[in-house]
Amino acid sequence: MPIISERLETDYAHLLHSLHHPSTHHNPKIWVEGKGAMLKDAEGREFIDGLAGLWNVNVGHGRRELAQAAMEQMSTLAYASSFAGSTNYPSIALAEKLSALTYPSINTFFFASGGAEASESSFKTARFYWRAVGRPDKVKIISRMRGYHGVTLAAMSATGLPAYWTMFEPRTPGFLHIDAPDPYRFVNDNPNVSLGVAAANKLEEAILREGPETVAAFIAEPVQGAGGVIVPPDDYFARVCTICDKYEVLFIADEVITGFGRTGRWFGLEHYDVEPDILQFAKGITSGYIPLGGIGISDKIREVIYNVPPAKRWMHAYTYSGHPTCCAVALKNIEIIENEKLVERAARLGQRLLEKLRALEGLEGVGHVRAKGLIAAVEVVADKATKQLHAPEVGISQRLHEAMLARGLNTRVLMECICLAPPLVITEEQLDRTVDIIAETIPSVLKDVRG
Ligand code: PMP
Repeated sequence: MPIISERLETDYAHLLHSLHHPSTHHNPKIWVEGKGAMLKDAEGREFIDGLAGLWNVNVGHGRRELAQAAMEQMSTLAYASSFAGSTNYPSIALAEKLSALTYPSINTFFFASGGAEASESSFKTARFYWRAVGRPDKVKIISRMRGYHGVTLAAMSATGLPAYWTMFEPRTPGFLHIDAPDPYRFVNDNPNVSLGVAAANKLEEAILREGPETVAAFIAEPVQGAGGVIVPPDDYFARVCTICDKYEVLFIADEVITGFGRTGRWFGLEHYDVEPDILQFAKGITSGYIPLGGIGISDKIREVIYNVPPAKRWMHAYTYSGHPTCCAVALKNIEIIENEKLVERAARLGQRLLEKLRALEGLEGVGHVRAKGLIAAVEVVADKATKQLHAPEVGISQRLHEAMLARGLNTRVLMECICLAPPLVITEEQLDRTVDIIAETIPSVLKDVRG
């Protein structure tokens, strides 16, 4: 058994972590084991994994079948190029499966290693499309504030969380943002339309301001995740699609979190009866057991890619695109989701979660609760009447995080929202315990803060 403190000294000496700062990497947890919805740390303590890793371990931890699938494929053919002229059976089978699972007009797939690479692929494909059809000025990408699309340079520029920009400016030119359709905070100043329509109309205003002839695409998560789990009003996406059609703007659905059952449907936009031109996925496609992401493109875009002359080809590529081992794990993961009816389970447990969270709305400091399947948030405010957040020096997010951890729940607090996206296999008991921990934590942290 390694001595924990020694291993941590080595971590401090040699590792740079995502979002690194020593103030938040002080005595980090060393995770050593996972089973179902539970994680174990190096001290042997067990925690509910309230965020399924980073919103990705949909089938839960400790699945030997996934290890077996990787082992079998690695032993046969671990890797081979998927550049034009080469292919492999697992990636062919996965593309065929995704064609059946995703939206009817999405039947062609390109694989990447994660979400940000999927975003880059979408943006480049949108630009490619317009250039190929003779509209090379359509290059801009519109996204929403509080949207998260990854943090490579172009993806970061689409991400609508300014904290990710601060030390990396300037952002890529041609990326702009509109307000999020946040039912709790969006201010609708048009009494003649619903909040959802008013929020979608921000897209039309932005397109008109920029000039429709300059806008390539609009990218949106069906439910915004890392921005604090924003569930849009039911009429938002229908209006978004009408606007995209009207001004010839491609609609990119970033389903990196909402794909593969998270919201109680296979894909998040199914709730809103609309289809994207480009669909991005990652995370839940392998439940995080091995890195894989990608995009699905509509038949309309595929036609264009297939019909340009060779010199104008879609010159986009990753070494690990169509990685046989990653695709084999994805196929097995999807089989588990189907066999165990985890999408239906997410819908059913999501209903239970929302009902339990609603009971917290009466608590002091709880501004708003929301959920769509097994993705949810509890927004903590300093003042319920004004919806004001706590002053940054209070460090409310860190305090909530630590207080939940002390009670056995590991999850993230983002934009002062306690976010939940547990493995879809979480038991009723574990789910109820999750809500109980939150119900105990908020009053106790607020008591400390208010002294
Ligand atoms: N899009 C969305 C919606 C995400 O939630 C994330 C990751 N949280 C990404 C893109 C980026 O994925 P990755 O970290 O794999 O680059």
